[in-house]
Amino acid sequence: MSETRESLDPRIGRLHAHGIVDLHFDLLIDLYEKRNQPGVLISHFLPEFEAGDMGVIGVAIYVEDRYLPELGLRVALDQIARLYAEVEQTDRFAICKTFAEITRARAANKIALLITMEGVEPLGEDLNLLRVFYELGVRMVGLTHARRNAAGSGGIFAPTGSPRDGLTAFGRDVVRECERLGIIVDLAHINPRGFEDIVALSTKPVIISHTNVRKFYDIERNINDEQIKAISQRGGVIGINAILVSPNPEESTLDRYIDHIEHVIGLIGINGVGIGFDFCEYLFEQLPPGVREELATKLTTPHFIPDLTNHSHARNLTRKLIERGFSDGDIEKILHGNWMRILEEL
Ligand SMILES: [Zn+2]
Repeated sequence: MSETRESLDPRIGRLHAHGIVDLHFDLLIDLYEKRNQPGVLISHFLPEFEAGDMGVIGVAIYVEDRYLPELGLRVALDQIARLYAEVEQTDRFAICKTFAEITRARAANKIALLITMEGVEPLGEDLNLLRVFYELGVRMVGLTHARRNAAGSGGIFAPTGSPRDGLTAFGRDVVRECERLGIIVDLAHINPRGFEDIVALSTKPVIISHTNVRKFYDIERNINDEQIKAISQRGGVIGINAILVSPNPEESTLDRYIDHIEHVIGLIGINGVGIGFDFCEYLFEQLPPGVREELATKLTTPHFIPDLTNHSHARNLTRKLIERGFSDGDIEKILHGNWMRILEEL
């Protein structure tokens, strides 16, 4: 007989006891845009994080097109500045630069924040600046978003047609410098040829903070089976994205999200999959309709999963994993353990 909704709650609580790790959240863009409304981290985000038992969150620096190229560096630094200012207002968060700091933050029941970078536009073509961002706490870097930059090109939201070229000389320098400094290289968004280049060039585990599998959504922004295996061979982890689970809105469901998890596990086993929710419906809703249409044309229209659109919904995922027959040990690895193994390197 299946467990009732009530009887699952204690089990979910136990599975969430160590805190969920989500390595991609576009938080800093919102803190920056709301820089005249201090306290938004506590008033808006903290309640959702707490309801979802979040333990570690990768918070991304991302610079919108309208600021580039001139203001890229300035906006990125300002995004970090806003994070520090917001975190200072509460004892519920810690910006962490090492695994020991993450462990300490969790022991003190704080939510550990790891600063990440989605696209190296803020560096321009100046490798020295990577060191500056490292000192400020950046510990994970994805070379590109969907657009081309000085490091390389992103995969497009179509089955073929991404730029054919791989990393530039600067992009290769960024990968080497990340490894030298101790920054995790993130392969989310990079085009197929750039993906190959990074795998060939890097020596440490490479990860994908947030992506989906092409089996269920066949676009070059997502990853195919060969790429999934390449990450596994390098000891990496793939975070499953909640906004590109299907090209069809009606198939954009929690079950389809878990299908992505199962597909990765089927190819590389339970140790290679984690969470990279990429919850951005809240950002999307704040855009004027014209900008939303422009984004849909340039990229794609994301189909948000109704019961998995923000961190407070994390329990829905865990409940569904239990219902789909995942063992407690496997759920723990998906929600927490696999990413923590990667973060141990910090
Ligand atoms: Zn992204």
